[in-house]
Formats: sequence, structure tokens, C-alpha cells
Amino acid sequence: MFRKNYPLLTISSEIELPYNYSLGKYGGRLVTELKQNGRIVGIKCPKCDHVYVPPRRVCGRCFIEMDEFVEVSNRGILQSFTVVYFSFLDPETGKKRPVPYGYGRIKLDGADSEFLHFLEESDFKKLKIGVTVEAVYNENRVGSFKDIKYFKKVEDGDPS
Ligand SMILES: [Zn+2]
Repeated sequence: MFRKNYPLLTISSEIELPYNYSLGKYGGRLVTELKQNGRIVGIKCPKCDHVYVPPRRVCGRCFIEMDEFVEVSNRGILQSFTVVYFSFLDPETGKKRPVPYGYGRIKLDGADSEFLHFLEESDFKKLKIGVTVEAVYNENRVGSFKDIKYFKKVEDGDPS
């Protein structure tokens, strides 16, 4: 009796889903240092001395807990990068980030791991693997990874 074929219908709508999540001890320490002191901290393994940025609880090499936070430089070497041309929603703002923009993996001086962040957006021709980049902070920091506006190439930062 109800075996008629009905067309599949779709309804378009959007939902707003604001949420908060805990950064925990390690992420919280990083964003607190960014906000209050304009510096980047990592964490050092007591066994192998590997410094992770961002800090994490357990060394991925030794599988032991870490608790020694260490300051690393705001400068580092660009390891790889991409230029993003497809706009998508920023999970922190719910708005589309204007394109194009650069995004790269940076090995900060004093760190052994790589830190992902936005790259200076005005001249992508300046970007290449091996250049020195430096964190540029927002004037009004709020305790977020985005307290670093982006990393910008240091003049004369080309690899020799
Ligand atoms: Zn280790």
C-alpha cells in the first residue's frame, strides 16, 4: 500500500554550532605564553632531549611523559608550504578566510618538531623552502594560536 515511489527531496538549511574545547595543560601553556609574553614554548623530553612545538604530553619517540617547558625562538626555517586558493570556514571564527594565503611547516630555532601556521600573505614569490621566517603577533592578543598573525620572511633570510 505504501510502496509508491516518492521522489527524494532535500531541504537546505544552515545550523550554527558554537562550542568550546579545552586546550589542556600543554596547549593552554602555549597560548598563555603567546598572549602574555609574545613567545613560543615547547616541551623537552627528559630522555632524548627532543623539543616539541606545540607542546604535548608524551614523547612520541620514548613514550614517556614530559613536563619541562622550554622557550623556543620566534624565528625558524620554512620546511614546506602551500598557497591556499580555496576558501573554507575558519573553525575559530565561523567565517571564510580570504584567499589566497600561505600555510607552512616551520622548524623554529630550538625546536625539533615543526609548527604549522599561516605565512605572510602579500608576496608569495618570496616564499621558498629554507628561508628564515619570523612570527608576527597581533597587537591585541586573546590567548589563541591566532595571536600569531602569521610568519613573515626575514629580509636576507634566504638560505646561503
Ligand atoms: Zn623522548
